[in-house]
Amino acid sequence: MKLVFFFGGGLADGNASMKSELGGKGANLAEMTLLKLPVPAGFTISTKVCLDYLHDNASFSPELKEQVLEALKKTEKIMEAKFADIENPLLVSVRSGARVSMPGMMDTVLNLGLNTVTVEALAKKTQNPKFAYDSYRRFIQMYSNVVKELETHHMEDALENYKNQRGLNEDTELSAEDLIEICNIFRQIYVKHFHEPFPEDPSEQLWSSIAAVFKSWNCARAKKYREIHSIPNDWGTAVNICSMVYGNMGDQSGTGVCFTRDPSTGENIFYGEYLLNAQGEDVVAGIRTPKNLNLLEKEMPHVYEQLLEVRDKLENHYRDVQDIEFTIQQGKLYLLQTRNAKRTTQAALKIAIDLANEGKISRQEALLKVNPQDLDKLLHPTLDPRAHKQVIAKGLPASPGAVSGRAVFSAVEAESWAARGEQVILVRDETSPEDIGGMYASQGFLTARGGMTSHAAVVARQMGKCCVAGCSSLSISQIHKSVRVAGIEIMEGDWMTLDGSTGEVMLGKVETKNAELSSDFVTFMAWAKEYRTMRVRANADTPRDAAFARNFGAEGIGLCRTEHMFFDENRLPFVRQMILAKNIQERKEALEKLRPFQRDDFVAILSAMENLPVTIRLLDPPLHEFLPHTDKDMMTLSNQLGLSADDIKQRVKSLHEANPMLGHRGCRLGISHPEIYEMQVKAIVEAVEICKNQGKKVLPEIMIPLVGIQQELEWLRNRLQKIAPHFPFGTMIEVPRAALIADKIAIQADFFSFGTNDLTQTTYGFSRDDSAPFLRVYKQEGILVEDPFASLDQEGVGRLVELACELGRKQKPEIKLGICGEHGGEPSSVKFCHKIGLNYVSCSPFRIPIAMLAAAQASISQNFG
Ligand code: ADP
Ligand code: MG
Ligand code: MG
Repeated sequence: MKLVFFFGGGLADGNASMKSELGGKGANLAEMTLLKLPVPAGFTISTKVCLDYLHDNASFSPELKEQVLEALKKTEKIMEAKFADIENPLLVSVRSGARVSMPGMMDTVLNLGLNTVTVEALAKKTQNPKFAYDSYRRFIQMYSNVVKELETHHMEDALENYKNQRGLNEDTELSAEDLIEICNIFRQIYVKHFHEPFPEDPSEQLWSSIAAVFKSWNCARAKKYREIHSIPNDWGTAVNICSMVYGNMGDQSGTGVCFTRDPSTGENIFYGEYLLNAQGEDVVAGIRTPKNLNLLEKEMPHVYEQLLEVRDKLENHYRDVQDIEFTIQQGKLYLLQTRNAKRTTQAALKIAIDLANEGKISRQEALLKVNPQDLDKLLHPTLDPRAHKQVIAKGLPASPGAVSGRAVFSAVEAESWAARGEQVILVRDETSPEDIGGMYASQGFLTARGGMTSHAAVVARQMGKCCVAGCSSLSISQIHKSVRVAGIEIMEGDWMTLDGSTGEVMLGKVETKNAELSSDFVTFMAWAKEYRTMRVRANADTPRDAAFARNFGAEGIGLCRTEHMFFDENRLPFVRQMILAKNIQERKEALEKLRPFQRDDFVAILSAMENLPVTIRLLDPPLHEFLPHTDKDMMTLSNQLGLSADDIKQRVKSLHEANPMLGHRGCRLGISHPEIYEMQVKAIVEAVEICKNQGKKVLPEIMIPLVGIQQELEWLRNRLQKIAPHFPFGTMIEVPRAALIADKIAIQADFFSFGTNDLTQTTYGFSRDDSAPFLRVYKQEGILVEDPFASLDQEGVGRLVELACELGRKQKPEIKLGICGEHGGEPSSVKFCHKIGLNYVSCSPFRIPIAMLAAAQASISQNFG
C-alpha cells in the first residue's frame, strides 16, 4: 500500500485532488510541483498512517520506514545533498497538514538534520558560519518546543538576556561566535529539562518529529478547533517532509507571504509582506516589522517579476485567490505553500464577481464561492472598529447587529420610554410572548437565561433586532430596576451597548456604523436570483418589515402572523373585551371594533407586497396570552371595561392551560370561536376591495394554522369560503398527523406551508423554549450533532415534510408547497427544501439574501452534479 507520496523535480505522486489523503498542504505542494513551479523536493506521509499510528499503540511499520527511506533518497538526489551526511547534509522541515487547515495543530520544525557535526559541515559548505549556527539555534528552539513541548520562554529569555548583556537589539546583529554560544546555552537548557542530551542522530530527530505531528491531531487545541468547526475526528493529519531552502542566508535571501488579491477588500492588487534575512514564521511572528511587497520590486526586481508570474499562474490554475508562502535563497525564488485565501465577506463578493467578469470562472462558480451564512455580516449595523469599548459581560450571539440604548427592565417600560422617543435595550431574565410590544419598541434584547433558540432569540431574528441571550453573569432585579454584573450596577435609563455578533455587552454608548448594501452585494444577489429555481419569501407582520424584505429581494410573504397586530396598545382593550365577553353578542361587538384595525393592517401589508403573494395566517396563539397577569394590569383593565376585578381574575384563571403549546389554540380556537376567524377573513376581503379601488393588484392567501384532522380544515373552509369565495385557502402542516394524512388534507387545501418550528417540537416532543439545557448536553455527548430548531432534522422532521409533499401532490398536483419556520433561512435546510421540490422557503427579512444564495447554490450543485 502506498503510504508516502514524493514530489520534486517536476514530478509528483499526488495532486490537488488528493486532499483527504495528503492534506491540503501536501496536495498543493504536489500540484505546484506538477505545474513546474520551484518547490523544494520532499514527500508527504498520508493521513492513513496517522490514523493507524493513533490506533495501533504508536508504532511505525517496517513498510512505512522503507517507503520513507526511498522517498528520502529521491529527495537527496534532486537536492544534491544527503540527509545526515557529515560533509554535505540535507536538511528538512517537518510540517503537519490536515484536509482543511487547522491552526490548532502542530507547529513546524525547520532545519531538521542539524547536529554538532552537520552544522559545521553546513558552515563550511556555505562559507557562512553565522547562517549555519542561526539555523541550528532555530532548530533547537523549535524541536524543543514542538516535539518536546518545552515552553518557548525558556530559550527566548536566554536569548534576550544574551543580547542585553552585549547591548544588541536585533537577532540579525548576532555574530557567528554569539550564535555558537547560544546553541550551547540552548542545549544546556534542553538537558536541564529533559535529563538527556539534545538528539544528535538526524534519523531520531525525524521520527520523533513525525510522531509528534501525529499526536498533535489529538491535542486539546486541535480537538477544540474541530468541535467548533464540525470537523470529523477521523480525518487525521498528513506529515510533509520538505527540503529546506534558506531565507536566512543574508541580504539576498528572505521569506514572505503574498495574496494574489487583497483578502480584506478583494481588490485586484498583489498584496503581501516579506523580510530579508529571515526564516519561516518570522514574518507573522512580529519579531521585526515586515516590508510591503511593493518594495521587493525595487530590492529584487528579478524575483518580484517571477513572483508576478507565479501569481497569475496559481490564481488561474486554482480559479481562486491564493495565499502563497515563498522563500528567497540567495536571489532564487522557492514556493512553500499555496491555498485558497481566507477573506472577508466583502472581499469574497468582490472577488467572486471580478473573477466571473474577467472570464476566469462562470457566474455559477462565482455563486458557489460565497458562504451564504456570511452574508448576514453585511446586513446589520456593526460597531465602529475605532470606538473605545468597555465589555462587562458576554452571552450568546443570538441575533446579529450592534445597538446602544438605555436599559429598561420590563416590556411596559420599554414601550413607554420608546413612546418618549428614547432608544432602549430590554433587559430580562427571559422574554415571553406578552413582551412582544415592548420588544418591538426596543433596539435590542439582553437576557440572562435561554439559548440560541429561546423566545428572545427567535423574535429578535424575526424582527431583525439585535439580541444577546443566556448571559448568565447578569443578576437582574426586576423590583429595583437594575442589573449587577462584574461589580457594576446598571440602573434603568443607563446607556449600554450590545453586539449580537459576538455576544458582548458593553457599558455606555459605543459608536456603530450602518450597513450599506454595496453594489457588489446587489449584483451578487441579482445573480443568485437568476440561478435559483425555488422562490424566497419573507416572514413579515408589518408593512415596514414587508418593505424591508422586498428591498432584500423577497418574492412575497410566506407567513404574516396576525397575532402581533392584536398586541398593539390601541387594540388590546378590544381584544380583551372580545375574550372576556359573556355572550356571543358581546363578542361580536368587540370584534366589530377590531375589524377596521385588521382591515387597515391588511391594506398596508398587501400594498407593500403589491403583485406578490401574501400568506395571512389566522389567529394562532391561545387567548390567555392576551390577558393581563399582574394585579395592577387587571385593575386597569377592570376600569377600562367596567368589569369587576374578580370577574377578570376568574376568567383569566379559567383560560389558564397546563400545556398551552398543545392547548386551545390554532384552528381549535377558530372552530370553538368561529366569529374570530370570520372577522379576520372579512377584513381581508375588504382590504382587497380597497386596494383594488386604488388600482393595486394584491394577492392574499388565507392560511389556517395547526390542522391535524381533515375535518378541521373542511369545517373552517366551508364556513370561511362563504365570506371569501374566490380566495386561495391553505393550511400549515405543523403536527405529524397532518403530514401523515396530507393527501386527505390536500382535498381542502390550495397550499401547504410547513411550520417547521412547531413540527420539530411536536415530532421530537421537545419544547423549544425548554430544550436549551438538555440540547447542550446532547451536543457535548454527540447524541445530536445540530440543534434541530436551528437546522432542519432531515431524517425525521424532514422525512415528514417530504412525505406530506408526496401525498399532497398525489392528491392535487398543482398544490403550492412552502416552508415558513426559522429553518427557511438556514442554508442546509434551504438546500433540503430545494431537493424535495418545494416551491418556496420563507424566512425573516434579514435572512432573505442567505436563503436566496443557498437556493441558488442548491440548484447549481444539482445541475453540475
Ligand atoms: P503553517 O501550517 O503554520 O503554515 P508551515 O508548515 O507552512 O506551517 O511552515 C511554517 C513556516 O515555515 C512557513 O513560513 C513556511 O514557509 C516555512 N517553511 C516550511 N518548510 C520550509 C522549508 N522546507 N524551507 C523553508 N521554509 C519552510
Ligand atoms: Mg504555511
Ligand atoms: Mg405554529
